[in-house]
Amino acid sequence: MADIRGQDSDILPKIHKEIDKVVSSSQFILGENVEKFEKAFARYIGTKYAVGVNSGTDALTLSLQALGIGPGSEVLVTPFTMFASVECVVRVGATPVFVDINPDTFNIDPLLIPGKITDKTKAIIPVHLFGQCADMRNIMEIARRNDLKVVEDACQAHGAENYGHKAGSMGDTGCFSFFPTKNLGAYGDGGMITTNNPDSYELLKMLRVHGAQEKYNHKYVGMNSRLDAIQAAILMVKLKYLDKWNDKRRSNALLYDELLTGIATTPHAEGYNKHVYHQYTILIENRDTVMEYLKGKGVSTAVYYPKPLHQQEWCKKSNYAKSSMLVSELYSERVLSLPIHPSVTEEQIKYICGEIKDVLCRV
Ligand SMILES: *Cc1c(COP(=O)(O)O)cnc(C)c1O
Repeated sequence: MADIRGQDSDILPKIHKEIDKVVSSSQFILGENVEKFEKAFARYIGTKYAVGVNSGTDALTLSLQALGIGPGSEVLVTPFTMFASVECVVRVGATPVFVDINPDTFNIDPLLIPGKITDKTKAIIPVHLFGQCADMRNIMEIARRNDLKVVEDACQAHGAENYGHKAGSMGDTGCFSFFPTKNLGAYGDGGMITTNNPDSYELLKMLRVHGAQEKYNHKYVGMNSRLDAIQAAILMVKLKYLDKWNDKRRSNALLYDELLTGIATTPHAEGYNKHVYHQYTILIENRDTVMEYLKGKGVSTAVYYPKPLHQQEWCKKSNYAKSSMLVSELYSERVLSLPIHPSVTEEQIKYICGEIKDVLCRV
C-alpha cells in the first residue's frame, strides 16, 4: 500500500547529507531547521504561520486547546475517519458530536450540520478524507453564522485544494501529520499546525513547550510536542517533490477510474477540488472476499475504516452506538483502498484492475 523506499530512492543522497548536517550541529529539537521548514511549509500552504509539533494527533489536540475548546464544548466531526480526529476532542475534555458523511465524497455533509448545532457547539473538525477537501465554502459559512471555530484535519491532504485554496489554509487552524505513509512523510512521527492568526500562533508555540513563554516561566499547562530537527531537514528536502508525487497519485487515479468504470464505484472528485488521493477508495460488495482474492494474487489492499467511531469500544457507555450514521455504517462494510502511491506503475494498475474484474465475475 505504500512504497517509501521506491518513492524516495532518487533523493536519498540529499536526505543523508541533511541528516549528517543535523547530527554535526547537535541541534536535535526545534531550532534553525525546524524554523526553516515551518516557513517553507506555511508558504506552500498559503498561511502566515506554521508550528511544528510531534504528530498530527498533537496538532489537532493543541489546536483545540489554543482555540479554547474544552469541558462543556461540543465539537462536530464525522465517525468515518481515523480515531485521532475524535480522540483530540475527548483529550481536551470536550464532547464529540457525530455528523454523517456525504455519500459521494466521504466527507462531512454540510446539509446535516445545522441539525446538530446546539448552544454548546463550539467547533467543527472537517476531515479532508483520502486527500479530498471537505465542502469548505459551506462549512465556513455555517461556522461564521454560528460563531464556531474550524479546525481542519488535513492529515491526509497535503497539497489538496478547494476553489484554489490549499487544505489547512481555510479554517482557524490546519492540522497535518508527517507519519511516514502520508503524502508528505517524515522518517518518524511529526506534525504541523498552520494558521493566519498571530495570537493562535504565539499561543501554539508556548503550548508545544509545556506552556512556557521562556524557559522555566510557564504561562499555561501545555505538553511536550515538538518537531525534531532531523525530521524537519528530511521534510524540507521532500516538500520540493510533493507536487510531483501528488500529480503521480492523480494520474494513477485517472487510470484506475478509466479501468474500473462499470466494474466498481470509483471515488468521486468534486470539480472545485484538487484531490491528492492519499487513498484511492472504491466501494464494492463482498469486499472481504475480494480483498482475500487480491491478497492471493499478490495485491495488497486496505480497509479505511472497518468500524465507524461511534461504534468503538471507548464510547460504549454513552449513547453514541445508538445514533444512526447510515452512510458511515454502510461504507465501513464496502470500502476498499487500492495501492495509489507515486511508485505504482501503469502495468501494476492494469494487473490489479484485471484481477478485480476476474474476482467480481466469480462472487
Ligand atoms: C494520520 C491521521 C491523523 C493522525 O496523525 P498522526 O501523525 O499519526 O498522529 C489524524 N487524522 C487523520 C485523518 C489521519 O489520517
